[in-house]
Amino acid sequence: MSENVRTDQLPLADESPTTESRDLGPSGNPTHPLATAPVGAPPHSVDGFVKEFLHELNTNQGVPLSMSSVNDQYMALASTVRNYLMARWLETNRKVHENKPKTIGYLSAEYLLGRQLGNALLATDLSDIAEKGLALCGIDIATLRAQEVEPGLGNGGLGRLAACFIDSLATMDVPCVGYGIRYEYGIFRQTFVDGRQVEQPDTWLSLGSPWEFPHPEASVQVDFGGHTERYIGEDGRERVRWVPAWNVLGVPYNYMVPGYLNGRVNTLRLWSAQATKAFDLQIFNSGDYAQAVRAQTFAENISKVLYPEDSTPQGKELRLQQQYFFVACSLRDFIDHSLEDGFDLHNLPERITFQLNDTHPVIAVPELMRILIDEYDFEWDEAWDVTSRCFAYTCHTLLPEALEVWPTDLLGRLLPRHLELIYQINDHFLAEVREAFPGDDLRAHHMSIISHGQGVRMAFLATVAGTKVNGVAELHSQLLRDKVLPDFSALWPEKFTNVTNGVTPRRFVRLSNPKLSELINDTIGNGWVTDLERLKELEPYADDPEFRAQFAEIKAWNKHRIADLLRARDGIDLPDGHLVDVMVKRLHEYKRQSLKLLHIVSLYEQVLSGKIAASEVMPRTVVFGSKAAPGYAMAKETIHLINKVAATINADPILEGRLKIAFPANYNVTLAEKLIPAADLSEQISLAGMEASGTGNMKFALNGALTIGTDDGANVEIRKLVGDKHFFLFGMSEPEVAELGAQGYNPHSYYDANPQLKATLDLISSGVFSNGDRHLFDMVVENLKNQDRFMALADFDSYVAAQAKVEERYADQDSWMRSAILNMARTGYFSSDRSMRDYLQRIWHTTPML
Ligand SMILES: *Cc1c(COP(=O)(O)O)cnc(C)c1O
Repeated sequence: MSENVRTDQLPLADESPTTESRDLGPSGNPTHPLATAPVGAPPHSVDGFVKEFLHELNTNQGVPLSMSSVNDQYMALASTVRNYLMARWLETNRKVHENKPKTIGYLSAEYLLGRQLGNALLATDLSDIAEKGLALCGIDIATLRAQEVEPGLGNGGLGRLAACFIDSLATMDVPCVGYGIRYEYGIFRQTFVDGRQVEQPDTWLSLGSPWEFPHPEASVQVDFGGHTERYIGEDGRERVRWVPAWNVLGVPYNYMVPGYLNGRVNTLRLWSAQATKAFDLQIFNSGDYAQAVRAQTFAENISKVLYPEDSTPQGKELRLQQQYFFVACSLRDFIDHSLEDGFDLHNLPERITFQLNDTHPVIAVPELMRILIDEYDFEWDEAWDVTSRCFAYTCHTLLPEALEVWPTDLLGRLLPRHLELIYQINDHFLAEVREAFPGDDLRAHHMSIISHGQGVRMAFLATVAGTKVNGVAELHSQLLRDKVLPDFSALWPEKFTNVTNGVTPRRFVRLSNPKLSELINDTIGNGWVTDLERLKELEPYADDPEFRAQFAEIKAWNKHRIADLLRARDGIDLPDGHLVDVMVKRLHEYKRQSLKLLHIVSLYEQVLSGKIAASEVMPRTVVFGSKAAPGYAMAKETIHLINKVAATINADPILEGRLKIAFPANYNVTLAEKLIPAADLSEQISLAGMEASGTGNMKFALNGALTIGTDDGANVEIRKLVGDKHFFLFGMSEPEVAELGAQGYNPHSYYDANPQLKATLDLISSGVFSNGDRHLFDMVVENLKNQDRFMALADFDSYVAAQAKVEERYADQDSWMRSAILNMARTGYFSSDRSMRDYLQRIWHTTPML
């Protein structure tokens, strides 16, 4: 390893006296009995809990109970619970240190964690004790729970998936470190002003963050820019040296990832960027204070904000800096700090698999090559052998625009050595292609990692380097093989596999739906929390009238719970006794919120024009929840239109008590946990072939909502499991979409041929939703009528017909509840525990460490 990148040589670390003792905690004698005594054994009494809580309040917050604020109390409660997890964390780390098991390094630019307190209480089995103890102090635990600001370090499904996966790995006793970025500002807070989305910064850290543990002494240096030099090494071989132009420090912040009641606590390590001392001292010494501060700002910008796009990358230099930053920190962290001194890096694949969550961390591939070759003197073949066994790649999309491509000039400017290595990887790879397909130059051209005129195709690089490439639902994995990466699957068929996504039953059933959990426990015991397929045992109860009544009562209770929340949170009143129809997910054309909107407007139009009587409309509340990327004009206009339609219809007495539209702002995990258990109907209406998997669809089914959906993503698997009778399928299939696309989709023909569709779109253009302005929503309407890659009008008829079936079924409550129970009982497959078992078997080839 070359000297110039040793972290203990950094100016900052040199000045720090604690560098050497970093890993082992107290630098004292580890054989002293107190050094290994467990701390924070769980309190078995309410009194014990109260004592600890008051101690934390006094010593951490510095206030007596009588003078404490809600935030003081929340912080004290968090540290009390945290203390009980600490013993398990230490023990987990000790075991890992001792047994040196293979670890999963989950590399993800996003973690959409949701609130931590409830999960920590659940994992320590402290919920009841804490509630009772706080009550003795005159505190309602619900008030403290509500005080927590969720860390929104992700955009949507992809980030939430990462959070579910690390939860499952901890619960399954699998050693895993989640690596990511500690954004100072997570996903923006959405507000509406006159129906338009306005973004506010997410200041999630402003009241303190009791769940994180910063370790500045373990900071890592990350280099950028500069150039490379060739020189002759001591052994006479030509070598390359990267001479970077600037660098930043990565400061790790550790988070606990507790397993469910199993004593294991894994680590999530998020990196925060800081200016290096060398960097600003140099400028400071030159006398330019302002420039020194600017330098610091520049460095810290790297972890300042989460990029608020979903599904479409923006070619932003800062984004590439973020990607390299967290990946370089993470590899350095594992190689330098987690492996024992003198570890032979040839064996690295036996100690870790880095799972690449989409293409965001793919720059890790040339980074590992660089470390092995430039720092550890590996020969190319040796380095590639190791690297190509350390990574596996999960693809999350089918949209071509969402596959990241970095311009070579940008990459070369920011990471000159990495670009050289990517060229070399490509040369070796294309030689292999030419050998496998002699004379087929066109194929080699198509498969090249570097596309001339475009740049470096990160998905290709990940596919070449990964031991496995997986899609996230059966249909998606098949389309990935057949349509996105067909040449690669022809070359390496065995590389491709599927792992259908899942969600953690701890957060999305046990915590979010306490009454239902209780009913399940009383009926089949509590084994389902870690073995979700056991929900199958509930199937017979679908025919039990008493169970159905209890289930229906819980659904009603959950509806009241969300009504209370939305009244307090958004000033929205939800009517009683409605079918609750929910569409919550990022706003994207492919997800087709506009199709849901057309259904609503069509109902309204039919009543307005007297085609049907208001009394014929089944009482229904439609709930939307959606953020649009700030730069995505069509998505923002769709939000605007939904809000205007909602305002008009909600204010019109004609549909009073029949149709209500609610669009609470700032959909996030916290809201999802309250909203999903209250839903009767789950809207999963993307154009077939566009939604890779979806995970919202799974959360709804597990909470006993019926799905109205296209044959897309994991909907396909949900429908197969629950059965056609309990799922409202509509719309074109993926092959039909492909065929229509090939013929040329002409939306206007649907508009012309279908009077109801025409009347619906014309109503939007009439100005009734826009104070008479006939053009306010031209962008949305004209797109639907004339362009729309996502073919909403083609599926309109079929969607409306499926909604009519929904109404028919819902009128028979017994039959509906039966289907709802069967949805819950038959979708245990979608536990992220099962996803993790699939990864262990098909990709990571390792087993839990018990
Ligand atoms: C589950 C979840 C998602 C993903 O929803 P999809 O319907 O699969 O797109 C997005 N955001 C939040 C807050 C979630 O909890």
